[in-house]
Amino acid sequence: MSYDLLFEPVRIGPVTAPNRFFQVPHCNSLGHAHPRAEAANRAIKAEGGWGVICTQEVEIHPSADISPAIEGRLWDQRDIPAHQLMTDSVHKHGALAGIELCYNGHHAPNLYSRVAPMSVSAMPVDSNYPQQARAMSLADIKSLRQWHVDAAKRAMEAGYDIIYAYAGHDMSSLMHFMLQRYNRRTDQYGGSLENRVRLTREILESIKDAVGHRCAVAFRFAVDEKIGAEGMRPEAEATDIVSMLAELPDLWDVNVSDWSNDSATARFEPQEGYQEDSIRFVKQLTTRPVVGVGRFTSADKMVSQVKRGVLDLIGAARPSIADPFLPSKIKNGELELIRECIGCNICVACDNIVSPIRCTQNPTMGEEWKRGWHPEKAKAGRKKGEALVVGGGPAGLECALQLSKRGYPVMLAEAGSDWGGRLLNESKLPGLASYIRVRDYRLYQLERSANVQLLAENTLTAEDILDTGIQHLFIATGSTWRRDGRGREHPEGVSMIENGARVLTPDDIYAGVAVTGHVVVYDDDHYYLGGVLAEQLRQRGCEVTLVTPSPMVSAWTEHTLEQSKIQARLIKLGINIVTTHSLRKIALDHCELSCIYSEAHQSIHCDAVLMVTSRQSEDQLYRDLSPAISSANDVSHDGLTDGPDDGPNDRKKPDVFCIGDCEAPSTVAAAVYSGHHCASEFDRIGTVDEGLYRREMISLES
Ligand code: ADP
Ligand code: SF4
Repeated sequence: MSYDLLFEPVRIGPVTAPNRFFQVPHCNSLGHAHPRAEAANRAIKAEGGWGVICTQEVEIHPSADISPAIEGRLWDQRDIPAHQLMTDSVHKHGALAGIELCYNGHHAPNLYSRVAPMSVSAMPVDSNYPQQARAMSLADIKSLRQWHVDAAKRAMEAGYDIIYAYAGHDMSSLMHFMLQRYNRRTDQYGGSLENRVRLTREILESIKDAVGHRCAVAFRFAVDEKIGAEGMRPEAEATDIVSMLAELPDLWDVNVSDWSNDSATARFEPQEGYQEDSIRFVKQLTTRPVVGVGRFTSADKMVSQVKRGVLDLIGAARPSIADPFLPSKIKNGELELIRECIGCNICVACDNIVSPIRCTQNPTMGEEWKRGWHPEKAKAGRKKGEALVVGGGPAGLECALQLSKRGYPVMLAEAGSDWGGRLLNESKLPGLASYIRVRDYRLYQLERSANVQLLAENTLTAEDILDTGIQHLFIATGSTWRRDGRGREHPEGVSMIENGARVLTPDDIYAGVAVTGHVVVYDDDHYYLGGVLAEQLRQRGCEVTLVTPSPMVSAWTEHTLEQSKIQARLIKLGINIVTTHSLRKIALDHCELSCIYSEAHQSIHCDAVLMVTSRQSEDQLYRDLSPAISSANDVSHDGLTDGPDDGPNDRKKPDVFCIGDCEAPSTVAAAVYSGHHCASEFDRIGTVDEGLYRREMISLES
């Protein structure tokens, strides 16, 4: 199939996008706190061929400040230079720069500005903070229009080509005004649909008047909240709103709401283009170009969206994070080299926990300015000698790939007959099939690299390794799940386990150990695994009780926007859920639980307990090798050697590094990062603060 269609320019009001690849606004927690990192992060996508690059949501006024979240900020003139960094770096690669102006209303607790929040009507802010928003007066509404105009003018001065008004994700005042459930007003901004849309119309018109001669005006609108009659729906008011405003914006950016529906994970929306049913009506009602998202990574699907008249521009947040060079790869016919998003939402979680963006598939994401990393280019190796990587999981695969790109001859050894480590097991769990993409992307290239030798079914010992005489050793032997229950709730393990009681670990389930009857899944890990194993055991016919010390199942998945969906799914499957309880004792035919608040006990009959508590590093090999390591290998606190560079008296003893779960068990994203980090920087001399990475420093000018 020809993909030329994707590389046609698209006119958007007074500007022209060079192609149909459109990075829609997305958060990265760099924003106003890390302006250089923000600019470099957006620029890398422009370099990779995206025709339009947008900011994240940008606050326009201190009365809607969403601290501690780090989004964009354009409160006054002083913010312009930071935005110019972004627009200049994007323009350098021929892309257009877009900015999403946002007023958050009752979504903003104003923790920095300490101004009383205001919204369409008086109501609590939506972040569980004990704060209410007051209702806007007509004077406030007039001010809000002016703030949008002022911000739009500042945005134009900063060099943006596309300026958004934003009514999405249940997070912005324009959306709040439209929704009957929030809008209780009795003036000209409440009641009829026309009144509820008035503010949006006025703001779009005002922005156009102010900057429309130079900038395109885009409108981001959530057309489907997926909550039935109470919310926005295509079959009801959303269609009327698009009809009413049809030709007013220069561009429609349409999606579903809330954020958990828009950025749905692969576990809950496995298909690309999953928003199509909700958004396809929009193009029938406007001649303006339409952009939408749906975790698009397949060029065929993208072409089909355009040909079938669903979208004009292929929007992407996560696919552009996982692969900033996705458009170039399509253009160059390198489809196998696309680093496909796996739909895990680690990127989203970073925003929710207010830490700079990272990505499971793309370890360079967020590190472009800080470490000077590039998703496609590797710095040439600085040392002589070969490299041996032991362990073919996410850490080992990424480490081997990066070493090979840096020019080192690499041997990658794996005990098992197949590659992928934990990915092999986890991708077979319900809803996690896409996780195998982390392996596939890397294995494909390793298999084709002339300087890489892949040695499956090779369990290496320290002796074997030292016998090879290889200079640079990377130990990525992973981790295994603990059987003793040691974890956050029981730092010393569950003390009372009766002899003969059946205690299983996730590794037993992976190994195919037969499990029947009633299984208690004890989840003190709180990420996805406990919940997903409960789901699998239930599907296999077991009676399942999930016990967790947390107030909810899979608690950390709140950050990946999955928690409520997981809990709903487990309830629907008939899994019994016991929260806020720890495991006190495991007996032959029952276990005893203890309430973490009252210490009241309860007993449940069960045939087995599955412990999902914590993992132990499989680092014996690393420890066996350690005595052989040169004393010159002074490992710095960054995990990198501080040893001498190769020279005439080059030491003969190898250097050895422990990476991934073997060093410290964590997410797949952390393992990939660890492999990339070590392979990229093990041969650089210096300590962290002496130049291995840059930090954004606060100016002391007032
Ligand atoms: P990570 O997430 O850090 O990559 P994994 O647990 O996914 O860790 O992968 C570790 C891999 O290392 C597994 O595939 C395992 O079979 C392999 N492995 C463990 N010990 C050895 C060894 N001594 N020799 C070769 N491979 C090993
Ligand atoms: Fe996709 Fe996961 Fe990367 Fe986010 S973190 S872009 S969901 S692979």
